[in-house]
Amino acid sequence: MRSFALEELNQDFSWLMGDLLEDAQNPATLKNDLYAPLIEVLRSRGPEIASKALEVFRGRESVGSVIAAFPDDLGKTVQDWHVQVLRLHQEFHQYSQIVRTREGDQKARARQRAYRELTTDREKAFVLSYLSETGILPSYQFPTDTFSLDPGVGDTPTLRRPAWIALFEFAPGNMVYANGHKLKSIRAFFEGGRRAAPDDRGAEQSGQVERFCFCHQCGFAARETANNCPRCANPISNQAEVALINSFEAEENTQITSAEDSRQRLTFKREEHLLDTEASEATLYPYEFVAMEFRSRAHLLVTNWGKHARRGGQGDRFDLCPNCGRHRPHGLADKKLEHWEENHRGICNGTPKPFILGYEFSADVLVLPVPAGIAPADKDEGRAFCRTLGKALVVGAQEVLEIEADEIAYFQHPDGAGGWTLVFYETAPGGAGYLELLAKNLGSWAGAAQGRLYNHDCERSCYRCLKSARNQFDHAMLNKELVRSVLFQLSEAQPTAIPRRGRAGEAQKLSIDWLAGLHKTVDAVPTSGTAIEEALLDAIRVGARLPEPVAQHSILGETGGLLTIPDFAYPERKIAIYCDGFAYHGNKETLESDARKRNALQMDGWAVLTFWGRQILRNPQACEAQVWQCFQYRRVSEEEEPA
Ligand SMILES: [Zn+2]
Ligand SMILES: [Zn+2]
Ligand SMILES: [Zn+2]
Repeated sequence: MRSFALEELNQDFSWLMGDLLEDAQNPATLKNDLYAPLIEVLRSRGPEIASKALEVFRGRESVGSVIAAFPDDLGKTVQDWHVQVLRLHQEFHQYSQIVRTREGDQKARARQRAYRELTTDREKAFVLSYLSETGILPSYQFPTDTFSLDPGVGDTPTLRRPAWIALFEFAPGNMVYANGHKLKSIRAFFEGGRRAAPDDRGAEQSGQVERFCFCHQCGFAARETANNCPRCANPISNQAEVALINSFEAEENTQITSAEDSRQRLTFKREEHLLDTEASEATLYPYEFVAMEFRSRAHLLVTNWGKHARRGGQGDRFDLCPNCGRHRPHGLADKKLEHWEENHRGICNGTPKPFILGYEFSADVLVLPVPAGIAPADKDEGRAFCRTLGKALVVGAQEVLEIEADEIAYFQHPDGAGGWTLVFYETAPGGAGYLELLAKNLGSWAGAAQGRLYNHDCERSCYRCLKSARNQFDHAMLNKELVRSVLFQLSEAQPTAIPRRGRAGEAQKLSIDWLAGLHKTVDAVPTSGTAIEEALLDAIRVGARLPEPVAQHSILGETGGLLTIPDFAYPERKIAIYCDGFAYHGNKETLESDARKRNALQMDGWAVLTFWGRQILRNPQACEAQVWQCFQYRRVSEEEEPA
């Protein structure tokens, strides 16, 4: 879309980034007459270009705002670039002047190489290449914000990764391998185009450090200071100084032994938050079970809280110098600490402070509420349920839209009312329109996820369904049995109203109300459980591919006592079938105890199929097909004798 805008301008861009400088050898002044007119033209012709672009990218709401923001985005990119070359120039002289050591030489050479790359390199500094490298123009696939890592050695060019990945892979303290070098990330830059004056290096005045408050009860996060969460009224759990990062620097580290090396592969605490307020607009997609909420270009914040101190801990943050971005590692021994301080004082007068690293961006978002009653009540189980459901729907999206795994990401938060909120976002800024398509077609989306998860035999998860190299920290939590029923219900869920405009947060309320309404109707008019069971049994017999299930099979718990009696079961395949679903004994206590029992069954390797009465009556064949899919791929278990 942005390259479309540049094409429309019909200007000549066959110049190098270094041409932006009055003097290529001294970056002090920008030649404003080169890029300022370009930005002016973009601004004045913006509306005209936007309406042309709308014809090309039909039905994409975000076109207008992408084009409108383009002049500013471009201006900021040029400012960031200028800050970077200024710093490299200054540091090159700094390292060339101090006593010549091998280390100082290497540092000076590295800066020379990086400076050349950014200004006169025929490949990298060519203006269109630079713009696509930084992510402002689409590179090979889609436009992505990227963060760079300057390797700090003379013979290796700058590395780039998508920002939401780089925030972890390039984080200070981490090891990175490139071109035969063992590099260690030592510095995080959060200087930026929003800074007041180019020679004032204080990050705190530059708007690149901001204080955020976070509520861990409901996932609220905002740039404000509050004692109580404006959304759920609980005390605010955390306030933190967030350093909004734009690049990293590494240096060669040859002294590291292989034992230390493996210890250097750090796991960082990752958090993701939706920053929008209740005032944001959304499109609501009300279905049975869930009402989803689509938000165009919502604001998101991804944060890296530092090394996991312990499971469930807050992360130990990063001690970074606000002036130069250098990282002072935690737990340095006295001598090493002294050495670090002395080196740092030699080049900078700042004092390190604890920060968390942040990346803020806007993207299309789909909010999927998982109210209490659908998600398990226990917090750890609820988290595992959400990690699994989110990944299942991401692989489902890959299947229906034929997209790459990384194009949609997701995270979850407790919703403050005993349930959870799952948030999906497009990793391509500007938005490809995927999430809105998925919201319109929940049935085929969830159906595709079912196909990917249950068309093969694996106990909890494998690389054919839920696992990938990227989500290895989730592997222990992923268990496809946890979401078997909910995916079926979503695949069969009918819209309860046509999509409409609404407020952010409304979908959660709609979903909770729908479930409550269901229990109320059911309490008032008790459905006959028998009629529903008979309808399912009939469908199984008509289908003529499944054997007769065992009715009222008693399943014993670990201690030998009676745990539960499903309506039907295939004990030798460990399949338990419940027909009440969310139906006739709808009071809270019964529901919770049912959910606990079913969870215990799943933990013991059972597949639990829960059918909502209305779904059985409406589409018994689909329910039979669900039982058949499960039956086909479940191995006969040796523990449980056929009854
Ligand atoms: Zn809250
Ligand atoms: Zn410093
Ligand atoms: Zn699998």
